[in-house]
Amino acid sequence: MNARVNTKRWRAGVLGATGMVGQRIVKLLSEHPWFELTAVAASERSTGKTYADATRWHLEGPVPERVRGLVVKDLEPTLDCDFVFSALDSSVAGEAEEQFARAGYAVVSNSKNHRMDPDVPLLIPEVNAAHVNCIPVQQKNRGYDSGFIVTNPNCSTAGLVLVLKPLADAFGLEKLFVVTLQAVSGAGYPGVPAMDALGNVVPYISGEEEKMEAEPQKLLGKWDGHRFIDAGLGISAHCNRVPVVDGHLECVSVRLKKTATIAEVEEALRSFEVSEELASLPTALKRPVVVLDGDDRPQPRKDANTGHGMAAVVGRVRECPLLDVKLTLLSHNLVRGAAGAALLNAELLAARGFLKSRQAEPSEVEQATR
Ligand code: NAP
Repeated sequence: MNARVNTKRWRAGVLGATGMVGQRIVKLLSEHPWFELTAVAASERSTGKTYADATRWHLEGPVPERVRGLVVKDLEPTLDCDFVFSALDSSVAGEAEEQFARAGYAVVSNSKNHRMDPDVPLLIPEVNAAHVNCIPVQQKNRGYDSGFIVTNPNCSTAGLVLVLKPLADAFGLEKLFVVTLQAVSGAGYPGVPAMDALGNVVPYISGEEEKMEAEPQKLLGKWDGHRFIDAGLGISAHCNRVPVVDGHLECVSVRLKKTATIAEVEEALRSFEVSEELASLPTALKRPVVVLDGDDRPQPRKDANTGHGMAAVVGRVRECPLLDVKLTLLSHNLVRGAAGAALLNAELLAARGFLKSRQAEPSEVEQATR
C-alpha cells in the first residue's frame, strides 16, 4: 500500500446519503481505512433530522453508530468534509455536483448527469485508470480550482465492461449484443411498484439501453490528452426489470477482432489481474473477474456478493452461432454498480494525489470573527 495514503484520512461527505446507493456508501465508509464520514446531505424531506431518523435503512445490521446522530444537511456546498460522494437523484445531481466542484470539493458521483460530459472521467479503475488525467483539463475548462467531478458508470454497464476489458486487451472487440435481467434495487426506493415487479418481467427501463450502448464506448476508449476517443464498438442492448432484489444478470454475445477458442477466452477472463497500484486500494480485488464452472451459474442470490460484491461473475462461456462467443455475467448493482465503484474511484483519486484536505482552510467560525 501507498505509505503516503496510509498516514492520512480524508473526511468524506455523502450527497443523497438517505437513498439506496447513499446507504451503501455510508455503510462502506463506516468500515473504511482511509475515509471518515463527516457529513450527510439529502432532500428537504430529510434535512434537519438526524441520519437515523431521516433514513429508512435497507441494509443488514443497524445504522452505523458513527453516522446515527449526524444531522442531514441540504445541498449548500458548505459541508464539513474534504470531498463528497454523490448518490443524488438525477433530477438534482447535475447542478448540485457542479456547485460542489466549483466550491472546491472533489465530487465522486454515481449519477448519470455528467457521465458523458467531454471533460469528465467515466471511471472504472481496472479498465481506464488513465482517464483521471482528464481532471486538470476539466478544472481549466470550467474554472474549477481544486474541485472536479468524476463519475462511475450505470449499474448494468459496470459489470459488462469489467468483463469486456480482458477480452478487448487479448483479442480486440468488434461488436456485442447484450440482454439484461436487472434487480429491483437498481430503481432506488420505493422503486418499481410491487404490482409491476412481483411474478413479472418489465421489458423496459427508461434510458437504460441508451446508457449501455454509450457508456462502454467511453470506458473502453482512450483519453488522448485533450479529449476522449470512443472505442467504436457496435452495441445492441435489451434491458429488463426482473423480480430479483440485488444483482444484475446479463446474457452477452461478442464478436472478437482476433479469432480465439473458448478455452483462450476463458483463460483471458480467469487470468485478468490488476496492477499492484490498484490491488493495493482497499476496495479493489486483485482478480475482479471470477469465472464459475457450474452450468447453472452465476445466479443473483448465490453469487451477487462474490468478492464483497465487487466481482463481475462469469459463467457459461461458449460458442455463439451468430457472433463468436457468448457468456452470462452477474454483478452487484449497488456495490460494483454503484457504492463500491464510487469508493474504488475515490481510493484511486486519493492514491494519485487528487484528493486534497480542506481542513487547512479557515472554518466558518474563524471567517466570521475576522
Ligand atoms: P434513491 O434511493 O431514490 O435515493 C435518492 C437520494 O437523492 C435520496 O437520498 C434523496 O433524499 C435524494 N434526493 C432526492 N431528491 C432530492 C432533492 N430535491 N434534493 C436533495 N436530495 C434529493 O436512489 P438510488 O437508487 O440511491 O440512486 C441514487 C443515484 O445513483 C441516482 O442518480 C441513480 O440513477 C444512481 N445509481 C443507482 C444505482 C442503483 O443500483 N440503485 C446504480 C448506479 C447509479 P431523501 O431521502 O431526503 O428524499
